[in-house]
Amino acid sequence: MFEVTQKTPYQPITRTTYSSLPQIQQLDPELREHIEVVSTVFPFRTNAYIVDHLIDWEKVPDDPIYQLTFPQRGMLSDDDYETIAGLIRRGAKAELQAAADAIRLRHNPHPAGQLTHNVPKLDGRPLPGLQHKYAETVLFFPSRGQTCHAYCSYCFRWAQFVGIQDLKFAAKEADDLVRYLTAHHEVTDVLFTGGDPMIMKTEALRTYVEPLLSPELSHVQSIRIGTKALAYWPQRFVTDDDADDLLRLFEQIIRSGRHVAIMAHYSHPRELAQPIAQRAVSRLRDIGCEIRMQAPIIRHVNDNARAWATLWRQGVRLGMIPYYMFVSRDTGPKNYFEVPLAESYSIFRKAYAQVSGLARTVRGPVMSATPGKVLINGVATVGGQRVFVLTFLQGRDPAWVKRPFFAHYDPDATWLFDLKPAFGAPEQFFDPDASYTHVWR
Ligand SMILES: *Cc1c(COP(=O)(O)O)cnc(C)c1O
Ligand code: SF4
Repeated sequence: MFEVTQKTPYQPITRTTYSSLPQIQQLDPELREHIEVVSTVFPFRTNAYIVDHLIDWEKVPDDPIYQLTFPQRGMLSDDDYETIAGLIRRGAKAELQAAADAIRLRHNPHPAGQLTHNVPKLDGRPLPGLQHKYAETVLFFPSRGQTCHAYCSYCFRWAQFVGIQDLKFAAKEADDLVRYLTAHHEVTDVLFTGGDPMIMKTEALRTYVEPLLSPELSHVQSIRIGTKALAYWPQRFVTDDDADDLLRLFEQIIRSGRHVAIMAHYSHPRELAQPIAQRAVSRLRDIGCEIRMQAPIIRHVNDNARAWATLWRQGVRLGMIPYYMFVSRDTGPKNYFEVPLAESYSIFRKAYAQVSGLARTVRGPVMSATPGKVLINGVATVGGQRVFVLTFLQGRDPAWVKRPFFAHYDPDATWLFDLKPAFGAPEQFFDPDASYTHVWR
């Protein structure tokens, strides 16, 4: 792996182009088949920075960044895998399409009703590009920020990428956002999310951001940007044509008396190793942006304490603030990537125990569930019963926040609705019908 110094424009590598990569041509034929078959069903996108600088090809397929960005055999059941592989071998194009669609629908990560949860209204009209669940923070999904510099293999947002139109949160216009915020003085934070808003050119981002800086919106004190670009394409902040303009735009927000919070999605310490990745962080820090680190815990990627402790330590060294470790839930290929709550907690605790207080700003493992953001505080034995000790960090009802409640310990549970209330904890906290689109960032 050599250092990235030259300027390279961003170019995605997709299922129609990956086979020409030298690293792929040297790959075991079996692994090449896995990519071909699984990418028929799940979207696949990577880029030259990830392929040349983040993946350690000697360690493939176990390499964590390879697991994170390339389609994996285990993402499909044996039956589904054989069906797709068979259709590819027979060259049955139309049937292949239908079979892939059917598998995708079965993995549909958006159960009924999810897209209508928390969508706010303005004059009785729903605003589909916004979500407003917790009073202080509005999520904004700019329509031009609904893709990413690479796709995480576990990501549920693939529904947005494979063109299922009605599954798309898309903001029609920045106008709606401004009008909504004008009517909602309780909102202090606007969180740009996606996809990845940093996929947008600075000019596009500016059309959304500038209207938020008006004196009428002085209650909006923080602009948050949820992004994976610091990990997947740090060039966005360093060498891209409009990287400098982007920093000017962030400075403009700061000069208006507001905070720029970059909610950076980092999955593994490898993502911080390259000089250009560190340079991206320092450029943002130099102009006064704070960077908070967050990611879900994912099997085969970061399901060990060492990865997290190193990530948080390196992050603090670079001036970032560890923020959340999430529990993954709304992933498409769930079984392959999930980590039980008990194990996630144990990994979190081991990692937390080996970092300084400056990194103990991190909270986790956290489930972003229907009733709120639920933190697994610990496992305890109370009156002879083994229980999970839980609290809300954010609650649908703010009165729930910071009050401990309990669930029977279950080493296999992977989500809140797998748990049974203990000591009379309210049933509604564990509602199995409840579902909510997870927001990592
Ligand atoms: C996580 C989340 C937020 C932000 O929560 P913070 O704890 O303030 O970072 C806002 N809205 C939704 C729907 C969320 O899931
Ligand atoms: S997890 Fe985030 S960065 Fe990864 S593919 Fe999904 S939206 Fe993009």
